[in-house]
Amino acid sequence: METKRPTIPAAEEILGGYFPVLDHGFVSLVDYMGSDEDVERAARVSYGYGTRKVSQTRGLIRYLRRHRHTTPSEMVELKFHCAMPMFVARQWIRHRTASVNETSGRYSLMPLLFYTPGKDQFQLQSRSNNQGREGGAPPEVYKEAVERWERLRKESGDTYAWLLGEDVARELARIDLPLSMYTQWYWKMDLHNLLHFLSLRVDPRAQWEIRQYAHVIAGMVKRVAPLSYEAWVDYDLEGRVLTRVDRDALSRLVAADEAGVHARDGAVVGAQELKAAGLSAREITELAEKLRAPDHPDFELDLSTMKTAEDVAKEMYEAVPGTFE
Ligand SMILES: Cc1cc2nc3c(=O)[nH]c(=O)nc-3n(C[C@H](O)[C@H](O)[C@H](O)COP(=O)(O)OP(=O)(O)OC[C@H]3O[C@@H](n4cnc5c(N)ncnc54)[C@H](O)[C@@H]3O)c2cc1C
Repeated sequence: METKRPTIPAAEEILGGYFPVLDHGFVSLVDYMGSDEDVERAARVSYGYGTRKVSQTRGLIRYLRRHRHTTPSEMVELKFHCAMPMFVARQWIRHRTASVNETSGRYSLMPLLFYTPGKDQFQLQSRSNNQGREGGAPPEVYKEAVERWERLRKESGDTYAWLLGEDVARELARIDLPLSMYTQWYWKMDLHNLLHFLSLRVDPRAQWEIRQYAHVIAGMVKRVAPLSYEAWVDYDLEGRVLTRVDRDALSRLVAADEAGVHARDGAVVGAQELKAAGLSAREITELAEKLRAPDHPDFELDLSTMKTAEDVAKEMYEAVPGTFE
């Protein structure tokens, strides 16, 4: 039977495909409900499917996003199947507006798959950001770290397999499996909250590992609801909030009217003035960051990496300890 539901060819092309992330993780778009037209239909509370021009839909979606009229975008939903290291899952689960069902370590046998950061990502503690990393690390430290991780993981995996072999309950056998181990979940979110999730998790201040997942999800959103994605990039991701002092300083430097934006000749607002107006040194740095030209990110999916569900399932099953099967 033919569906009456609106489908989006670019989303259908990747539906059920698995995109690898990190060394053993993945994201798959399992299902979606609605697209840009559904945001418009909800906003207009309209009957059935009309024949609006794309330019009209785009204009409305951009207006809604600029003015934070967010509920129409809650009418679109995306459902994903994801596998990620537990420490990533712990950051991800903080986004409370999702519906989540995680694989149960009480019920299922856990695949012994662990995340190992690549050499490029093995960095030292950042001096400027307590929650970050920077620079390179000596290769001998990386080599030893990998050896130590492997020893720990083997010990912990062997203990897990031994406990299961002794018929100890799975809910107890799993208690010392490490945070680097992969878990999986089904994760569903509406478009409004998903774009909020992406704003926080593609941001360079988010941990690199969760960012890799956010990049893939952003590529999926771009296929499901391209106009909403575009508006999100323009107004949220690449947009910046100006504070009262920011606006005060900028209004002394430039004037704007229907004819455009004009520089006020020779005007300067120095750091001392900004400080006197109440900005901390950090806020001055942030203002400079806000005024830098944006990056124009592109979260296009690489279709050549897409795997089938069977390929991914095989890797997971093969990593389940088998001594007690
Ligand atoms: C770079 C970074 C560093 C972080 N560091 C830490 C950390 O060190 N420790 C830590 O604990 N967390 C940390 N977090 C998690 C962060 O504080 C948020 O919990 C997480 O990003 C989810 O954001 P959210 O609450 O806006 O999203 P969601 O949970 O999806 O909620 C979306 C929005 O719904 C509303 N909402 C949802 N639930 C409630 C509620 N119960 N009450 C009121 N409003 C609600 C809020 O407006 C919220 O913004 C960090 C996040 C980032 C991005």
